[in-house]
Amino acid sequence: MATTEVMIVTKTAEPAPAPEGSKAHHVLSRNGSISGFVNPFPSFGGGVGLLTVARKMLWYVLRATLPTPLEADGLSLTGVHRLALTGKLNSPDTKPPTVPVRRPTFLQSRTASPALRATWLGHACYHVEFPTGLRVLFDPVFESRCSPFSFLGPKRYTPPPCDISDIPVVDAVVISHSHYDHLSSTSVAEIHKRHPDAHFFVGLGLEKWFRSAGIDKVTEMDWWDDVDVTLTLPKREQEQAGHDDDAKPLSSSPNEPPAPERISARISCLPAQHTSSRTAIDKDTTLWCSWGVRSGAHSVYFGGDTGYRAVDAEDESAREAAPVCPSFDDIGTLRGPFDLGLIPIGAYGPRTVFSPMHADPTDAVDIFRDTRCKKAMGIHWGTWALTTEEVLEPPRLLRQALKLRGVAETGVFDVCDIGESREF
Ligand SMILES: [Zn+2]
Repeated sequence: MATTEVMIVTKTAEPAPAPEGSKAHHVLSRNGSISGFVNPFPSFGGGVGLLTVARKMLWYVLRATLPTPLEADGLSLTGVHRLALTGKLNSPDTKPPTVPVRRPTFLQSRTASPALRATWLGHACYHVEFPTGLRVLFDPVFESRCSPFSFLGPKRYTPPPCDISDIPVVDAVVISHSHYDHLSSTSVAEIHKRHPDAHFFVGLGLEKWFRSAGIDKVTEMDWWDDVDVTLTLPKREQEQAGHDDDAKPLSSSPNEPPAPERISARISCLPAQHTSSRTAIDKDTTLWCSWGVRSGAHSVYFGGDTGYRAVDAEDESAREAAPVCPSFDDIGTLRGPFDLGLIPIGAYGPRTVFSPMHADPTDAVDIFRDTRCKKAMGIHWGTWALTTEEVLEPPRLLRQALKLRGVAETGVFDVCDIGESREF
């Protein structure tokens, strides 16, 4: 049918780091097939398995409950009071106002803007409009809770800025990994229903999850795999926003260039330092990734969800002593520079527990520099309180980190309102 977009995905060869190192993240079974994945970097430290996190959390709490100077003065405090007083086990205050949420606007035609346009849809979800006409959605999750249950688990403290039905065009959906705050079966099903031609790009091991959900337009990729994508569009007048009867047609003004017949892009699956799981028995059986997307003259680096270095103490001195993940420098050298980085800045406290898998703002600035992004926006904050830091702390620490690293505090690596679009 003429209204159907066709996306052809072809594997391509680009340089990867030395071959002996590039597959070190595979765990092989006896027959040589891949049975899981690891972070092959000293920067992952002791890691973040369930037992490790529980042990570290317990140790963190115990240390925080050791007698304080107040108690030396004869004050009697319970452990919980000590924690509250020392502020060491914080339960973040999510009462409004927190991060402003506005209704997003999307371009009404594929060629409406000569700039790269990026719209934050909360947490790690970004919708990116390339001047070539390509429309990419990263880590779409529109549910209230990021958990296997609709009644249990972290609940949004900021609403999604729009519904999936408000997004007029989605050509490609890029998924960083299987955790519930990045991959939602309900959102994926809704996107597939409204945009049946959209192609999903996922890490190794996740393709079968999509196929069992009835989605065949899916390509799983390993770190350093690249694909070339050619999107053939239906005739301009047949182009529709979504495929709903009630959807508004995309209209363009007379002075805009006509919609292209073909759009090309290169999509690169790149490393990250993280983990994966959706159930009690699938830990690290699917690959976690960051991504590069290049179309025409513009390029985007999507950090997804990643750590940068594991620290063994809460104070800043631990940071400079810790080894950093070498992959980000490889990404910058081999796939950079990027016009825009979408880089995680939240869900980092306490550092002794979460640093292996979640960057804090200083780590994020270091990732930004390593990957050679020209500009960046902070993601992975402002939506679910997953960890102990205050919900508005990430942007504040981001400015401090930029200053510390000698980068301008505004206009280079920014944050925006949920639903806001920025041009690059
Ligand atoms: Zn995650």
